[in-house]
Amino acid sequence: MTTRQTLKGIGASSGIVTGKAFVLPSWEWELPDKMIDVTDLAAEFERLSDGIRTSKREIRSIKNELSDVIGGEPSSIFDAHLAILDDPIFMNEIQGIIQRQYKAAEVAVKEVIDKFVNMFDLLDDDYMKERALDIKDVGNRLLKHLLGKPDVVLPETSEPFILVAKEISPSQLAHLNPSHVIGVVTMAGGVTSHAAIMARAMAVPLVMGLEGKLDQPIQTGDLLIIDGEEGLIYVNPTDAVISEYKLLQAHLEANLENLKRIALEQAKTLDGTEIHLEVNITSLKELDQALQYGAVGVGLFRTEFVYMDRDAFPNEEEQYDVYRSAAEKMGHRPVIIRTLDVGADKQLEYLSLNEEENPVLGYRAIRISLDRTDLFKTQLRAILRATVHGNVKVLFPMITSVDEIRQAKALLEEAKDELRREGLPFKEDIPVGIMIEVPAAALIADLLAEEVEFFSIGTNDLTQYVLAVDRMNEHIAHMYDPYQPGVLRIIRDTVLAAKRAGIELGVCGEMAGDVRALPFWLGLGVNHLSMSVQSLLPLKQRVLQARTEEAVKRLEQVMRCTTSAQVKALMDPPARLTAAFK
Ligand code: PEP
Ligand code: MG
Repeated sequence: MTTRQTLKGIGASSGIVTGKAFVLPSWEWELPDKMIDVTDLAAEFERLSDGIRTSKREIRSIKNELSDVIGGEPSSIFDAHLAILDDPIFMNEIQGIIQRQYKAAEVAVKEVIDKFVNMFDLLDDDYMKERALDIKDVGNRLLKHLLGKPDVVLPETSEPFILVAKEISPSQLAHLNPSHVIGVVTMAGGVTSHAAIMARAMAVPLVMGLEGKLDQPIQTGDLLIIDGEEGLIYVNPTDAVISEYKLLQAHLEANLENLKRIALEQAKTLDGTEIHLEVNITSLKELDQALQYGAVGVGLFRTEFVYMDRDAFPNEEEQYDVYRSAAEKMGHRPVIIRTLDVGADKQLEYLSLNEEENPVLGYRAIRISLDRTDLFKTQLRAILRATVHGNVKVLFPMITSVDEIRQAKALLEEAKDELRREGLPFKEDIPVGIMIEVPAAALIADLLAEEVEFFSIGTNDLTQYVLAVDRMNEHIAHMYDPYQPGVLRIIRDTVLAAKRAGIELGVCGEMAGDVRALPFWLGLGVNHLSMSVQSLLPLKQRVLQARTEEAVKRLEQVMRCTTSAQVKALMDPPARLTAAFK
């Protein structure tokens, strides 16, 4: 048994679980040390093709099983795996080694996996590192079939366990049965990895990034508590910690059940201010739960996820289907569709963007759309056509100047003209909005307000740009702080500009769903907040207990603060403590 340890990793999927550890052995096999005879080359190619066929069949069946359970977005990760097996560069390299060096198929596959994985790993880019994991994952599956090895077998035990692995791939996660595997701990990985996305969708608590932090490796049989929200792991904890966590867990569960009772209540403060609690989505699958939790609209549809995990741009019909379904599902409730926001940390494999020194300041979002007007118009046409099926609005990301919004609107008009000529129906008066997420836009909010019907403040990027702190860089993560007075001032001024101009304003960054910030929004008179589905109920609970008058007073004090610590002291307490000890 390992000694007692308390570790802090990255909380990648929330939830608290206690259980015994099962340490997953790494996927390493011995490879045959033989050369192929020239007369056996054809048979070796056939063996490779068989292995590929079997791997593809297996991937497709996992994907189908999974999309029924957890939805399209995470399971579409397996499309990326299928694409790797169809990738001519990957396959030519393998065939080349067999043909020129007379090596066995499994040796060739292993060499090519290692080559690509090393190449991607060397890049200082989290996204490419995640792609390396995909290649390793799919390559290991192919190796498994070529070598005729069984899957790693997890213990057949009636007692649920916590899986501990060096790293976890989406395939491995997909094989897990959540009633057996109640939590996962990995040494490598980050919150934006595919595995993290899937763990959240499967509601399996996950803590990542323990590399180099363990005094001793965790062993099978060690008792673990994992706290997926805080990123904490307790190895062989004391009885006191165990009872404390049992209490916390019970409170959290009871509180969630309680919260479900207010799901369909209107979000109104004690003194009668209505707050529209809307949801941020990346796919249609999130809509059912959003409706169950009482979302009154989609405040942000991040459409870039419709473009991900595929090998080509979605065409107009494909996009129209998705936007139309969202509009129909939400009925009269607004659905704000944001146009493609790729670049920086969100990449599309088939849109090969050049490497940039500063991608966050680079070719991204509306800058790409205004450059690739073919892509942009296709998307605009699809969005326009969806307007006849519900209450659709369009939102442009990362607007920096009046010129940009005018260009975007001109292209929207061109798309309308085309549809008119083709006799395709759409609503002429589709409301147009922009994200306020670049400081320059906030500073000219009065000018931009003349151009559009609504603003949506993107606090995630706005914080990053105001503070000059990369939101993806873990070394300066402590400096990424939306409660800095500079950020609060720019937000306040944007809200005031929108009010003066008489246009609608909402907030869709993470800060909108942070219960601590509610007095700030209420005090400012912001009444459209859009957030991830999990934040809807805790926030509504706070709204129901809040008073606008008090929030206005609190805002005055907050705006006089000189440090973020003072600001936070005036804000509401974080969600979990009140949730647990209510
Ligand atoms: C934001 O920047 O606050 C935002 C909502 O957009 P994203 O997180 O998709 O960049
Ligand atoms: Mg943004």
